[in-house]
Amino acid sequence: MLPEAGSLWLLRLLQDIQLAQFYRPILEELNVTRPEHFDFVRPEDLDGIGMGRPAQRRLAEALKRHRSGLKSKNWVYKILGGFAPGQKETTPPSDSLPSLPEPDGGLKCLIPDRAVCRGELLGFGCFGVVHRGLWTLPSGKAVPVAVKSLRVGPEGPEGTELGDFLREVSIMMNLEHPHLLCLHGLVLGQPLQMVMELAPLGSLHARLTAPAPTPPLPVALLCLFLRQVAGAMAYLGARGLVHRDLATRNLLLASPRTIKVADFGLVRPLGGARGHYVMGGPRRIPYAWCAPESLRHGAFSSASDVWMFGVTLWEMFSGGEEPWAGVPPYLILQRLEKDRARLRRPPLCSRALYALALRCWAPHPADRPTFSYLEGLLQEAWPPEGRCVRDVTEPGALRMEPGDPITIIEGSTSSHSPNSTTWKGQNGRTFKVGNFPASAVTLVDSPATRPVLRGSPARGERHQGNIDGDRVKVKLRDPPPGRGQRRNVSLQRMKGISKSLESVLSLGPRPTGGGSSPPELRHARTVPQGPPGVPPCSPVATSSSSQPSQPPRERPPWPKREPLHSHPVGAPGASKATVPSGGPLPDPELQKRIMEVELSVHGVTHQECQEALRATGGDVVSAIRNLKVDQLFYLSSWSRADCRRILERYQWDLSAASRYVLARP
Ligand code: AMP
Repeated sequence: MLPEAGSLWLLRLLQDIQLAQFYRPILEELNVTRPEHFDFVRPEDLDGIGMGRPAQRRLAEALKRHRSGLKSKNWVYKILGGFAPGQKETTPPSDSLPSLPEPDGGLKCLIPDRAVCRGELLGFGCFGVVHRGLWTLPSGKAVPVAVKSLRVGPEGPEGTELGDFLREVSIMMNLEHPHLLCLHGLVLGQPLQMVMELAPLGSLHARLTAPAPTPPLPVALLCLFLRQVAGAMAYLGARGLVHRDLATRNLLLASPRTIKVADFGLVRPLGGARGHYVMGGPRRIPYAWCAPESLRHGAFSSASDVWMFGVTLWEMFSGGEEPWAGVPPYLILQRLEKDRARLRRPPLCSRALYALALRCWAPHPADRPTFSYLEGLLQEAWPPEGRCVRDVTEPGALRMEPGDPITIIEGSTSSHSPNSTTWKGQNGRTFKVGNFPASAVTLVDSPATRPVLRGSPARGERHQGNIDGDRVKVKLRDPPPGRGQRRNVSLQRMKGISKSLESVLSLGPRPTGGGSSPPELRHARTVPQGPPGVPPCSPVATSSSSQPSQPPRERPPWPKREPLHSHPVGAPGASKATVPSGGPLPDPELQKRIMEVELSVHGVTHQECQEALRATGGDVVSAIRNLKVDQLFYLSSWSRADCRRILERYQWDLSAASRYVLARP
């Protein structure tokens, strides 16, 4: 059989090194028709066509010689070769046969066309179509896969699309993380095809918007997904990559409890020390997901990915709704910047998680948390799990039966009967969400719903393990980058306290004004708004040493994941430390006050409460206020006096005051 004109170079090259017998197998079994295709051939592939290792070395040498004159002209090389930091593996080392890197368990290789059979259509992407497929390995084993084919027009593939497609291949083949979609290999056929890990349950967006009778996704599972995504994004960031298209449509469900970040078509390397990528030309932009700096300057960075993470969180808790629906794209930036508007808190989203989203939407990129820090924040905001202990059939209450698993979203005190504690939660049996009497549920330890942080990778590390449903201790990582020394100090300090801001926002007392997670965070808001149906508290005296004008309100007990005290109540170590200046208090009375302060200002330690009480001579209200001022002070760059004024304006609602300061740079 005569050699094909386009592959004469291969025949000549092989003849030169006395390996002409491999011409047909290389052409037909490995689909190699251009020198660059050898970038995707592994030694195992050549073993598979019967070429021994010494012959492989000869081939590598010959290729090196051949390519030295061609490099700059090759389209695959141009696009795939050496454009991303840490991706030099795509350029073959000079002394070995060009091949894809083969990380543990990875099967990244050039796949012969005939080894892949395409089936049902899974979806349309911007480069073409994605089909379900079956890939038959040389061993005969068939692996279910997804096959993404590059769309080919009458003129061949369009330049940008080809570039993005190959860029996606190049990016994916160097990534390995349990929550990033894995690339198995490339079919260099017509059309070009990516063979990827199959996510049989489709996109998260499709799942979120699936009509009844598909039940909604449980809140605890959404939290697990968020943790998985944050881990995967931390890994991407550590590799110097920015995703630029994080959204639920690009999160795929590999199993009911495993999410994978996918669609790397817009992934770009960050530009060196400046740490961001600036878009070169007009491209598709997911406006409603983008950070202001991306919309204004086309600037993308890990911090803009964090912004998108916040929007993705919002999508997840709003059942896959479209962010900023109805707002024309050109107005989104104005709403974000001029009006300081933010997406509203979805009803399923706890205040703790919403506070986390608000931090992701900090106007200045440097004020947003990093992904690794977010992993810790998410852990703190994890909703506690409970089990129903009695039938709840009261009108208006979330219906439940004994034994029902309940995820607790929020705690609050009923406006009708302030002494009864009401929690908001989701019934894991019916998936319904609503309020119920706290007495109907006991808290359980929930190993099934909390993820394990088994060494999620920090910068420069490779991922160690999957984030599954096992229990794990809270681990705070890198503090989010701060803009100044003060901010760093405050965040360092926040690491030391038992609960961070998210806990404060989540677990703090029922908002007394403006604390009901405002629909939009507005710069100009001056008058705190109370939640509907909750009468605002009247302003109270502000002097830190003043006696309470009214007895402090009984706080609802809130489920805590950690023991309430670092010392048991009444333990010798706990009582000895406190001698209020107003004269020694009897121990039980002291412990009661400490507990009262601790319950009112979540995020503070037992010892801090003791000290605050000592400083105010045992005055609970003043101690609470001083601690709140401290919390706000450490969170922001405002002075203590300013923090006090802001808290006064918000009637000492730390949650509302925190949102106010976080929204102002
Ligand atoms: P993309 O081109 O990556 O945007 O993919 C288009 C659509 O195809 C997605 O929205 C998914 O519904 C589907 N899809 C893509 N990749 C996979 C995969 N690996 N497994 C299952 N479905 C996929």
